[in-house]
Amino acid sequence: MNLRYQLVAIDVGPKICPNFIKSYIVILQRHCIVVDPGPMNSLEKFVVGYEQYCKDKKGCIILTHIHIDHAGSASTIASRYNMPIYVHPLGVKHIINPSKLWSASLKSLGELALEYGEPRPCRQELVISTSDYEVIELENLRVRVIHTPGHAPHHQVIFFENEGMVLTGDACGIYIPEVDRIIPTTPPPFRYREYLDSLLKISKLNPRSIAPTHYGITNGYRISEHIEQVKRWFEFVNTYLDKGEEPTLSDLIRHDDSVAEVVRAIGEGIVCEILRRTIASSLRGFIEEAKRLREMAGRR
Ligand SMILES: [Zn+2]
Repeated sequence: MNLRYQLVAIDVGPKICPNFIKSYIVILQRHCIVVDPGPMNSLEKFVVGYEQYCKDKKGCIILTHIHIDHAGSASTIASRYNMPIYVHPLGVKHIINPSKLWSASLKSLGELALEYGEPRPCRQELVISTSDYEVIELENLRVRVIHTPGHAPHHQVIFFENEGMVLTGDACGIYIPEVDRIIPTTPPPFRYREYLDSLLKISKLNPRSIAPTHYGITNGYRISEHIEQVKRWFEFVNTYLDKGEEPTLSDLIRHDDSVAEVVRAIGEGIVCEILRRTIASSLRGFIEEAKRLREMAGRR
């Protein structure tokens, strides 16, 4: 790929799972664009990488979404280097005042939230709300921000038009290079139809490469495979709900060989335990969403 800039991926994973989270930095001549600086407790890891490449440059942050593993350190970095944060309009208030986000994170992630660390509030003037398909242009580089709800209502992806590369945050699941598999990251309150629509929106861009936050830049990622996987999960969950039951993780392992493969790799210590709880909470997201949609259909 012929890039007019340098793109680096910094490991900002927690101690218990190195490489699980990647922060991307686009390095231009006079500017640096940071996509998702990572969790608060990985701040120092980020700063070492950032200063290595961007010490005398003007920076900005673009957040794919506000979850604390992606955006936890954003306010602190923005204040330290006086740089703006571009965020989906629904995420703006949570960056300015993260108290609700933090209590929701503690509730949904438990101890893992403490591992990631508590985000700090941000000065309002540093936060910029994006619009769908907006172009951010710096030194002839055009990056397009595309709103992609589903994983979260405040999710957006970053598209490098000339290179056909998309930094997807959590919009396209997790790609695990060790086993060459994709698994959904769809914790509650996951929204199935919005998520599928967002995948189709990304697929229409004809991306040549996809770079999810977990675990990094990849050419092995196949979006069509993930679209089919998500449809299959939804059908699978509904067959259980039809019988008045809920599927368990063991049921899912029997149903999806990617899940089986990842769980095997966790057991063998090839990939981190975090993935086991990610899969469980993705399944929970599907179950709750399928129930919600059934209830809505019943009411009609
Ligand atoms: Zn997320």
